[in-house]
Amino acid sequence: MRLCPDDPEADWTLPGIYEVDAGLYRIPLPLPSDGLRAVNVYAVRDGDGLVMVDSGWALAQARELLEQAVKLLGSGLGEVRRFLVTHVHRDHYTMAVAVRREFGTRVALGRGEAGTLRLARAGTLSAGLLSQLRRGGAADLGREVQFIRESIDPADWADPDDWLDAPEDIELETVTWQAYPTPGHTRGHVVFVDASRNVMFAGDHVLPRITPSIGFEQNAAELPLRDYLDSLALVRRLPDRLLLPAHGPVSPSVHVRVDELIDHHDTRLRRTEEAIAARPGTAADAARRLRWTRRERKFDELDLLSKCLAVTETLAHLDVLVAAGRLRRTDSDGTRYYDVG
Ligand SMILES: [Zn+2]
Repeated sequence: MRLCPDDPEADWTLPGIYEVDAGLYRIPLPLPSDGLRAVNVYAVRDGDGLVMVDSGWALAQARELLEQAVKLLGSGLGEVRRFLVTHVHRDHYTMAVAVRREFGTRVALGRGEAGTLRLARAGTLSAGLLSQLRRGGAADLGREVQFIRESIDPADWADPDDWLDAPEDIELETVTWQAYPTPGHTRGHVVFVDASRNVMFAGDHVLPRITPSIGFEQNAAELPLRDYLDSLALVRRLPDRLLLPAHGPVSPSVHVRVDELIDHHDTRLRRTEEAIAARPGTAADAARRLRWTRRERKFDELDLLSKCLAVTETLAHLDVLVAAGRLRRTDSDGTRYYDVG
């Protein structure tokens, strides 16, 4: 591994350590799923130590690459002072907890993730997802998905040292960052701003090439898509900055991408409304009539996990349409049915 300048045109998933700005590095770590191939961890020099944004999934191969990367900065993992984690998902949070077990590194996470962590520790993670799928009219998918095994050490779901109550200032040794609350992808998602460098560490809130899943949470909010759209609006009101995403290449403008994401969800809301106008039914019914991914695939062509994501995503859009008075909802036996009213 070598330390190279970051090239946003190159394959962003290639293992290595890339300098984005003086003292600011991007370290992509591999993920085992074929959907998302990597997660970016960012390392920032702070005095004589390092601060990390997000941490990766606690897997042996990722751990090895993180160690090599940190070594090129003249440090060991033990010299990482803090992990600031954008959200509770395993590809962002679990490595921080694993490293803390060895070195006592401080870990910070948004307080909104507390409920999800509690459920994860109790081993009841899937119960919330199953009732969500039932709500979406996809109890059949729920039965299939129960057999997917989680390769997570329950110890990796320990609480952080610091619960972030964003918006709040984060005092590092040489600079003060801001954490902003951006619920939607998860309930406790936060983004970090380093105004001195004019950058935003956006986690999964603003991704340059894909849209984050909405509403696929064990501990789902009542209106996750409304939360997400509000969080996009919040970020849009801040000054425009360099986008440092957790998945995808570093991109020049947070605002440009936020505008695209808002457009995307406007279109999805309209198409979801049309699907129900054409034929009333559940989220799963509507999801089957919509097209998925950038390749416009049919629902039946998706793998099991993507089908689950499609149903909860559609549910999130339908519930925003109900809240806006554009559709009507009735509940029966834990399943939600939608019509134009
Ligand atoms: Zn992620």
